[in-house]
Amino acid sequence: MTSRRSAESPRQPGRVLLASPRSWCAGVDRAVLAVEKALEQYGPPIYVRHEIVHNKYVVQSLQKKGAVFVEHTDEVPEDSIILFSAHGVAPTVHTEAAERNLATIDATCPLVTKVHREAVRYAQQDYDIILIGHEGHEEVIGTTGEAPEHITLVNGPDDIAELSVRDESKVAWLSQATLSVDETMETVNALRRRFPHLSSPPSDDICYATQNRQMAVKKLAERAELIIVVGSKNSSNSVRMVEVARNAGAPAVHLVDFAHEIDESWLEGVGPVGLTSGASAPDTLVDGVLQWLAEHGYTDIETVTAANESLSFALPHELRRHLR
Ligand code: SF4
Repeated sequence: MTSRRSAESPRQPGRVLLASPRSWCAGVDRAVLAVEKALEQYGPPIYVRHEIVHNKYVVQSLQKKGAVFVEHTDEVPEDSIILFSAHGVAPTVHTEAAERNLATIDATCPLVTKVHREAVRYAQQDYDIILIGHEGHEEVIGTTGEAPEHITLVNGPDDIAELSVRDESKVAWLSQATLSVDETMETVNALRRRFPHLSSPPSDDICYATQNRQMAVKKLAERAELIIVVGSKNSSNSVRMVEVARNAGAPAVHLVDFAHEIDESWLEGVGPVGLTSGASAPDTLVDGVLQWLAEHGYTDIETVTAANESLSFALPHELRRHLR
């Protein structure tokens, strides 16, 4: 650590290494736009089940515009409009909404929907499905709800010894979209040792945005002496970026929602500062941190690019139909 500081700091005082890509992914962009369009078209209140994306600033901004966030469908008055978040919901939630005569707008990220479909397909073929993910996360609850009798959740390799399946030749794995790529592959390898006939989904479930942001933060970790990740503590993808940076050897990594949470003492004796943000954090919050850093002498910005992103998703069909 010391040699890296002495090698780079004198030549690059006040440098910010700015990760690219960072901030909103296509699924988050679509979900937030869906709430805004619904508010425009139907007027407030628009009820949103669960935080639309896991970011404090986004949720507070939409609340000011008239979105009402609820955890359960029965909190929504009958005949209202409910919008489902990017994390997806279990089929039972659609049923509950229909029972309350709610008009629904489904802003589930298409990449999460893909995992739901894989769960349904494996269940129809009577596989036991090992879902790698974090217990209690909204996305995991939604995916599990597609085939509860077929799905067993594992958090990591330590959970594998206790697994029991009906037929070792019919076991498949799926994963939450926002996990650490490296840790997930460790779990998959451990599963494969336990179940040599393990069936894999046609493509990785960990989404492109999660993978790209993790690759970018690893690049920051090669040079930065401090990394700031902008994101909320309940954002799986932002928390994973902090872990990935630490595992890649970053000397110090902090997760902040806002620039004012940065402690000046973090910068003491520090050379290049890495800056990135989770897929649920808007870039305006990164701009706020850049401004804070500039006020503290970090004015030299170098973009560190790990991948180029151009993906975008169409609005949920319920809104597109109305827009025609
Ligand atoms: Fe979709 Fe990935 Fe973004 Fe989640 S992080 S909303 S899965 S693109």
